Amino acid sequence: MPDKSTSSEPASGAAAAETQQATSPARKIYPIVKYGDAILEKPGAPVKKFDAELEELAEDMFASMYAAQGVGLAAPQIGLSLRLAVVDVTGGKNPEAKIVLANPEVIHAEGEVREEEGCLSVPGFRGYVMRPQFVTVKAQNAKGESFEIRGENLLARAFCHEIDHLNGILFLQHLSMLKRDLIRRKIKKLRKQGEW
Ligand SMILES: [Zn+2]
Repeated sequence: MPDKSTSSEPASGAAAAETQQATSPARKIYPIVKYGDAILEKPGAPVKKFDAELEELAEDMFASMYAAQGVGLAAPQIGLSLRLAVVDVTGGKNPEAKIVLANPEVIHAEGEVREEEGCLSVPGFRGYVMRPQFVTVKAQNAKGESFEIRGENLLARAFCHEIDHLNGILFLQHLSMLKRDLIRRKIKKLRKQGEW
């Protein structure tokens, strides 16, 4: 993290408050949990408490996701067994594309698309996964307000991928057994070499 406290002048209270307003608070960047950690294969607990802390957590998850250059991140991927995920298929280019999904569920799915997919928890590996072309998801935002959102193609894929995470499912489970075993063997080897 860059050190911002190098200014020789001590900031007055007012100046400090102004700085606080002008810039967003520094975000916590969480390390991403990798495949092999049991938390990734266990369903998350429902989000019950919607408070300032949860809003902070969601913002920190966006920051962590952007830092890792992902388009979606689920709480189990930062070591929290919670039904919370963030999605932004613009990668931070459009603030309005930021979607917080608390307790999400797919309520409608339509069509099928087979596309290559990856996961921040399985870095360096990709595989073709069949996903619905359109999905409608029902969820709550970080304030606890219920909403429905429809996604198409990449957005639909991201919703399904993240909701899978909240159910303890990784994209590897959607691959052919052959492909899945190949990836597992490679990861095992990487782990032996201390590179995973
Ligand atoms: Zn993932």
